[in-house]
Amino acid sequence: LFVEQPLGQGNSVPMTQPQANYLFNVMRLGVGDVVALFNGQDGEWTCRVVDAAKRRGMVVCEAQTLPLQTPPDLWLLFAPIKKARTDFIVEKAAEMGAAKIFPVNTDYTNSDRIRQDKLQAHAIEAAEQCGGTYVPEVANIQKLSAMLDNWPEDRHLLFCDESMVGEPSRLKDLPQGPWAIVIGPEGGFSERERDTLRNHPNSHAISLGPRILRADTAAVAALALWQTALGD
Ligand code: SAM
Repeated sequence: LFVEQPLGQGNSVPMTQPQANYLFNVMRLGVGDVVALFNGQDGEWTCRVVDAAKRRGMVVCEAQTLPLQTPPDLWLLFAPIKKARTDFIVEKAAEMGAAKIFPVNTDYTNSDRIRQDKLQAHAIEAAEQCGGTYVPEVANIQKLSAMLDNWPEDRHLLFCDESMVGEPSRLKDLPQGPWAIVIGPEGGFSERERDTLRNHPNSHAISLGPRILRADTAAVAALALWQTALGD
């Protein structure tokens, strides 16, 4: 279960109303039972329930069961699509170990309506579900062009370029270091964006195979390819 509070030997952690409902009503835990908690910073802790009510509760940390597992320094930049598919991308990126997730506006997307807080909640749920101790941060939406203008010097860009369909992926020779995967919207990248991304000094343009994938499929495929080539 994800909590916001610091976890450490003897720390008391109050349960919010939804957490108390989940633990004490849905899971039927009570005083004396144990629950595994993580907060994205202190690893996973076994905590004992010392107070269990319908709408509140308290647990006390007893032992660390896992250290914090920080993922490789991988960002995912993607152009938001329909809500369910955007949720899917965030969930899968969190499961597959992206360290940071950036929804970006591109020439053929304008999705200012995304709810960063909801997407962050999806990332937390995904980390809870896959037993991770780290939760990737989901950034607020920003312009891809603005991000590229201020791009960190040492971060490589894995530009998933649909116009390279069918060309070899060339993933073998990619350098180590911090990376960012860039996935376009359903309408693809504009010529202007493609030029910028191709000519960016940190860019490595790749094909994801012989077919044009939907953006959500492309994000998962790129994360899997990157993990195989450069993840640990
Ligand atoms: N409308 C575009 C077209 O017909 O050319 C397709 C865009 S595709 C649905 C969405 C994004 O997924 C692309 O911008 C690209 O980043 C990625 N993508 C999909 N298939 C790909 C492939 N075979 N190789 C590289 N990137 C791909």
